[in-house]
Amino acid sequence: MFGQQTALRKFAIASKIKRGKNNQARMGTIPSETIEQIAAANDIVEVIGSYFPLKRAGANFKALCPFHQEKTPSFMVSPSRQTFHCFGCGAGGSVFRFVVDYEHIDFPTAVRKLAARAGITVVEKSGGRGAGDEERQRELRQRLLKLHAEAAQWFDENLIRREVGKTARQYLRSRGITVEIAMRWQLGYAPDEWDAFGSWARSRGYDVRDLIASGLIKAKDDSDPTGSQRSVSAQGAAHATASYDRFRGRIMFPICNDVGEVIAFSGRLLQDEEGAAKYLNSPETALFRKGGVLFGLDKSKRALIEADCAVVCEGQLDLISLFESGITNVVAPQGTAFTEAQARILKRFVNEVVLCFDADAAGQKAAERSLDALLQNDLIVRVAEIPAGEDPDSLVRREGKTAFEKRIADARDFFDYWIERETANLDLNSLSAKMEVARTLAETVSYVHDPVMRGEVISKISARLAVSASAFAALVPKQVRKGPSEMTTERRQQLVPPNDIALLCILALRSEQAHQFLRAQSWREVLSQLPSTYFLERILESEVRPNDSASLSAFLASLEPEEEDIISGWLHLKTPPNSVAVPWLRLRQAALRRQLDIAKDRIRLPELSTGDVINLQKQILDLQEQLHELSQPAGRGDN
Ligand SMILES: [Zn+2]
Repeated sequence: MFGQQTALRKFAIASKIKRGKNNQARMGTIPSETIEQIAAANDIVEVIGSYFPLKRAGANFKALCPFHQEKTPSFMVSPSRQTFHCFGCGAGGSVFRFVVDYEHIDFPTAVRKLAARAGITVVEKSGGRGAGDEERQRELRQRLLKLHAEAAQWFDENLIRREVGKTARQYLRSRGITVEIAMRWQLGYAPDEWDAFGSWARSRGYDVRDLIASGLIKAKDDSDPTGSQRSVSAQGAAHATASYDRFRGRIMFPICNDVGEVIAFSGRLLQDEEGAAKYLNSPETALFRKGGVLFGLDKSKRALIEADCAVVCEGQLDLISLFESGITNVVAPQGTAFTEAQARILKRFVNEVVLCFDADAAGQKAAERSLDALLQNDLIVRVAEIPAGEDPDSLVRREGKTAFEKRIADARDFFDYWIERETANLDLNSLSAKMEVARTLAETVSYVHDPVMRGEVISKISARLAVSASAFAALVPKQVRKGPSEMTTERRQQLVPPNDIALLCILALRSEQAHQFLRAQSWREVLSQLPSTYFLERILESEVRPNDSASLSAFLASLEPEEEDIISGWLHLKTPPNSVAVPWLRLRQAALRRQLDIAKDRIRLPELSTGDVINLQKQILDLQEQLHELSQPAGRGDN
């Protein structure tokens, strides 16, 4: 019967939304069986749990969402379905999607990473067009990781075993860093020569272009005003090659990502030298993004979670001293102040931060500049008292662990400390001076999202300035929080189908029986009559096996990210009613009604031939008959 209406159906199909065209492009050249195999070998709870802690919540696990800012966890991980979904921002999907979004890497890279984690070799189909660039980037990152690992080892051997590292060894010993500690942190030494590292690396077979891409050596025409005056005698060697070492005569601190791979270095001069920076960091590379890494995090993760508090110090040596003295919940921002990205990472581990910055002006500036990012991420900020002329390193070595812990426990709320500082030299009788301070303070208060905390801060400041709380509150500018999702509401609405279709999607994804039932129906015919059936068609035409979470992951991996968001949400809903026949019946009725409407419209058109009219009348009667049959009590509807 449906067969006679090809023209009408074509009309209906043409009006549907376009299907995702580039699943294959997302999968790259990796066969879908391999994707399934990799999914099966990587438990999503373990994988996500290796990035940040997950708490058990019934059959699922939950955490604060890493993709948007929140105070109560709405990020759920389902071990049975091997999916995640955030009910706050809507992000969700398979284990692959998590790694893509969390690590900001492309899909094939995430697949390869998870394959490596599980010891699976990925054999790729050759010759994918457009994959060339991605492939080259991935290979470059691989080579750079290997180079960094070997470089860290070479620097470390210079420091620990070689004559060239003697002065550096002595210096570190004077700062309480023993050989054992230096080895634990893989500290190293870069000789004070122009081409020591470069010639070693070339002898190991590294290409000069890769060495330059790593930031460990610089091309000759890069100007380097800080280095040009130093080591005049070594300049002859520099002329011999087209490049020279970035790090010369420095103690080398490897900077690791949160899984402990070396991705950059920070080099410290042994003694202050005029015109040269005390600390020199790697430039941004394919591996290293400044402001996105916290020094020490790979080692202090667990302690941070247990303490629910991060002790933040400025330098690497401070951090190592604290850690080695037994204060292990420590991190250091690379550079001077916290970035928004670093604060967001930290918020996944702790709710509170104690700043242990130097008492000097630079340290105070760093503390102040860190504040906005920390407050924006709803972190409670306190400031530990560090006496002038001391730093956490000297302090913990002189006073010991217990005394330092007391400093942390006694650390004052940042606002108390800061109100006092801002108002210390303030003449409260001068209205203009008072207004100026009030405006400065109000700007920072605007970053406090928590209403209780904000109210408290406002009342403290207004009391200190002797103005009314409401007058001060009026000065606080409104901050606009950036939304996490780039997906337009329009696209979402287009994708989200009406209730019955959504229900059938859920059932088809969660129950083998429902999936089979629907596939046994003439579903293409029915769905072609209805709007918003895109997902249901995708699900039914896929080979997904709902009881097999790896197959589910492979199916999710074939979707566009925004589609994956929506489907992962369905998978994480509470168990829906499990009758598939009822919503399916309603869908069939809707399809028939729609055809009936179209036929009735057509029969009113002018200039129809008698034959047309007769055909349409037949069609209408036929459709009415079918609708009538479907409306009978259960048992007769489905053929
Ligand atoms: Zn979220």
